[in-house]
Amino acid sequence: MRVFRWLPREVVATVLGVFIISLRLAFTGVPDGEMPFALVWLGVLVAAWVGGFGPATVASAVGLAIGQYILVSGGKSGIGFTGLAFYALFSLILIVPAEIYHRMKRRRQADQRLLADMTERLNRTGRLNAMGELAGALAHELNQPLTAIANYAGAAQYLVRNNPAAAEDVAGLLDKIVGQIDRSRGIIGGVRRRLAGDDLQLAPESLSAMFEEAAEIALSPSAREPVSVRYAFDRDADRVMVDRIQIQQVMVNLVRNAAEAMAGSPQRELRIGSALTAEGLVECYVADRGPGVSSTMREKLFQPFATDKAEGMGVGLAMSRTIVEAHGGRISADPNPVGGAIFRFFLQPAQASAGGS
Ligand code: ADP
Repeated sequence: MRVFRWLPREVVATVLGVFIISLRLAFTGVPDGEMPFALVWLGVLVAAWVGGFGPATVASAVGLAIGQYILVSGGKSGIGFTGLAFYALFSLILIVPAEIYHRMKRRRQADQRLLADMTERLNRTGRLNAMGELAGALAHELNQPLTAIANYAGAAQYLVRNNPAAAEDVAGLLDKIVGQIDRSRGIIGGVRRRLAGDDLQLAPESLSAMFEEAAEIALSPSAREPVSVRYAFDRDADRVMVDRIQIQQVMVNLVRNAAEAMAGSPQRELRIGSALTAEGLVECYVADRGPGVSSTMREKLFQPFATDKAEGMGVGLAMSRTIVEAHGGRISADPNPVGGAIFRFFLQPAQASAGGS
C-alpha cells in the first residue's frame, strides 16, 4: 500500500498486471490448447481492480501479444478473428465491473471532499456573519441615542435663537454638533449597508440543490433523534439570483432551528419546498412539527440576541433576515396548521433579476 503514495496507482496496476502475464514466458515448453492465456486473465483482473480501465486494457493487450507469440513460436496458428472477439469480450467482462467500482469510489471521494469544503466555507461565513450581526446590532443601538442627541441639540438651537441674550457663538457650535451627529449617522448607516451585503456575489443558482446541500450540512446523519425530510420544490421556480454561500447560511439556520425545535417531539418530520407567488417571487419554506414559536419569542423572533435556548446566541434569525433583505427579499414565521412552525423567505427569481442592478 505504501508504494501507492509515491507511484500513481495506475502505474502500479499496469506493472503488476503485465508482470503476472509475463510469468507465462517463464513457462517454456510447447503450448497446449488455451494455456498461453492462462495467466492473462489473472493479470487483467489484478490490473482492473487495482487501477481500473486503463491499466487493465494495457495488461490485456500485452497478454494478447504474449499469448500470440507463444502460440506462433510453438508452431501453432494465432487465435484468429473469432478468438480475438472472444478474447476482447472476456476482457471487457473482467474489466467493466472493476471500472464501475473505481468510478463510484472516485465520485464518493469527490462528494466527500466537496461536502467538507462546503461545511468549512459555511462555518467561516457563519462566524463572519455573526460578527457582522453583532456590529449591525451595535449600529442599530447607537442610532437611537444619536437621534435623541440630534433632537435635543435641535431644541437647544431653537431656544438659543429665540433668546436674544444667547450668544451667536453657541448657535454656531450647536450647528456643528448637529452636523457631526448627522455625519456619525451617515457613517454608521454605511457600515450597516456594507454588513448587510454590499459585497454579495450574486449568480443564478438552483434553489433545490442549495437546500438539499444545506439540509445535509445542518442535519447530522448520526444524530440521536434523526429527522425525516420531505422535499416539495416547484421545478419551474428553481433558479434564483443569490449569493449561494449567504443564502445557504439562511437555509442551514432554519433547518438547524427546526431540528432543534423537534428534539423530543414524537413526529420529527421536516417539509422543505418552494413555490412561485402571485407577485412573481420564489417562496421558500421550512415547516417543522415542533412546539411552534413560543409566545415570548413571537414579537422579537428576528431581533439580534433574542433566544430562549440555554446555549443560544440569538443571532441566527437576525442574521438570516439581514441576508434575505440584502437580497431584496423578506422572511417571516407562521404557525404550522398541523402543529409546529413554518419559516418562509422570499427571493427574486433568476430571470427577473438578471437584467436588474
Ligand atoms: P438561537 O438558535 O441561537 O436561539 P435564532 O436567532 O436562530 O437563535 O433563534 C431565535 C429563537 O427563535 C430561538 O431561541 C427559538 O426560541 C426561536 N425559534 C427559531 N426557530 C424556531 C422553530 N423552528 N420553532 C420554534 N421556535 C423557533
